[in-house]
Amino acid sequence: MLNPLNALLGLFSLDIGIDLGTATTLVNVRGKGIIINEPSWVAIDKKTRRPLAIGQQAREMVGRTPANIVAIRPLRDGVISEFEITEAMLQYFIHKAHDHMWVRVPRPRVVVGIPSGVTEVEKRAVYDATISAGAREAYLIEEPMAAAIGAGLPIIEPRGSMVIDIGGGTTEVAVFALGGIVVSRSIRVAGDEMDEDIMQYARSKYNLLIGERMAERVKIAIGSAFPLPEEKTMTLRGRNMITGLPGSVEVSSIEIREALSGSVNAIVDAVKETLDETPPELVSDLMESGICMAGGGSLLQGLAERIADEVKLRVWVAEDSMTCVARGAGTVLEDLDNLHKVLVGLQRGSTQH
Ligand code: ADP
Ligand code: MG
Repeated sequence: MLNPLNALLGLFSLDIGIDLGTATTLVNVRGKGIIINEPSWVAIDKKTRRPLAIGQQAREMVGRTPANIVAIRPLRDGVISEFEITEAMLQYFIHKAHDHMWVRVPRPRVVVGIPSGVTEVEKRAVYDATISAGAREAYLIEEPMAAAIGAGLPIIEPRGSMVIDIGGGTTEVAVFALGGIVVSRSIRVAGDEMDEDIMQYARSKYNLLIGERMAERVKIAIGSAFPLPEEKTMTLRGRNMITGLPGSVEVSSIEIREALSGSVNAIVDAVKETLDETPPELVSDLMESGICMAGGGSLLQGLAERIADEVKLRVWVAEDSMTCVARGAGTVLEDLDNLHKVLVGLQRGSTQH
């Protein structure tokens, strides 16, 4: 949010919160808000693995790249430990944030949100790359923690709260109390897998090959996890596998719900397992406060209802659910003294404690 004090502080220092998502990277600059929202893609030279384009530009190269260039998603594809690629990404986003400033400011302080499943090596790579990309101070935060803060949950308090963050590559479920994560689960089933489900369904039921973008459009338009008040239909367009010619078929939201059921069930199971491991005191808190959903995948129609129905708790989608992590990372920078303990510690040789 833009308030005058923040705007003034922003003139003299640069605080940046970055949500390094598997699908989308968001950059939140203190006093300015979210100024960058780009796909987490990097186009690299296949032989040298040197980064050639980043963000939107890299995304546009997908499917159109010459043979020697590949476009990858470092966060999803698990190549975030490749230092050069991670550094190039962070450098691009930090420099771009700098370009938005009117005056020359000293090197920024940066909080980066990372998926909670990443390895120690990957955390190290992100930390080092952030410093190397020009940050004066770098901090890491686990995405579900940042999402909870961005959604305004009272994670510092003794009473428990819970977040389900459904992104492109991962779904993260976490229960918080006293500024820490008490129980968590991270599974590799989220929005991308749902797109895959739809592609697979079209292939096996209609012999129709459809692209990722078409699948995502269908998911957003008529995908659901719970019966809709009014079921809908949509036309799938692709290539008929038998004739090899362009083909199309009309599908209903009931069929798409069936196609998505495996992924939806996996998410429901992750929530149930997390609740199963949650201490009873905190479970009783959740019976009052309910469960908050964040991330783009939480917008799937009927998903909140479906989870609520399965676990018998109130479930709601955070306001502006796709920006929770970036806003939460920004909040941590504004109140580092109090919120320092929510950050991720790094093992050996780091300046972070
Ligand atoms: P990440 O944090 O991993 O970068 P995001 O939180 O940006 O991911 O969410 C991206 C995912 O959300 C994509 O799979 C996208 O298709 C999905 N998504 C976005 N809007 C909707 C919607 N209205 N319904 C269902 N899925 C959606
Ligand atoms: Mg995310």
